[in-house]
Amino acid sequence: MAVKDAELPYLRRCVELAARALEAGDEPFGSVLVGADGTVLAEDHNHVASGDRTQHPEFALARWSAAHLTPDERAAATVYTSGEHCPMCAAAHAWVGLGRIVYVASSRQLMAWLTELGVPAPPVRTLSVQEIAPGVPVDGPVPGLAEEVRALHVRFHGGQG
Ligand SMILES: [Zn+2]
Repeated sequence: MAVKDAELPYLRRCVELAARALEAGDEPFGSVLVGADGTVLAEDHNHVASGDRTQHPEFALARWSAAHLTPDERAAATVYTSGEHCPMCAAAHAWVGLGRIVYVASSRQLMAWLTELGVPAPPVRTLSVQEIAPGVPVDGPVPGLAEEVRALHVRFHGGQG
């Protein structure tokens, strides 16, 4: 399934949330959980600045969905996100039985950008969602918006971009 024009507002919202995280001194990642009828159910951005580096928005949305949605509702829901799920979040997404993922920027793109900016490698290996959760349908990256996400990461890491 390709990314439809009607889905772009959800992806733009993810970029907005990522920008809000950046303004709050956090890493620029944002995510939106959307139900089968297109309703935004929950949204979040990164909260790792506190020191808890597991506070990713995709992980928060997986836990929120487990607490508030039925298994059928979770399977029919979509998670839109500014950056592809990391292995921790991809695993949480699959364990709670959420449906499709649509990301703006891929983990591979993000790693290339961070490497370019001289950011040290993360403690967890960079893998695609499909390597962690092969049953989850995934779409992305989204050209154009991905450049906006890149600009946020450049700002966060103090680069000139
Ligand atoms: Zn994550």
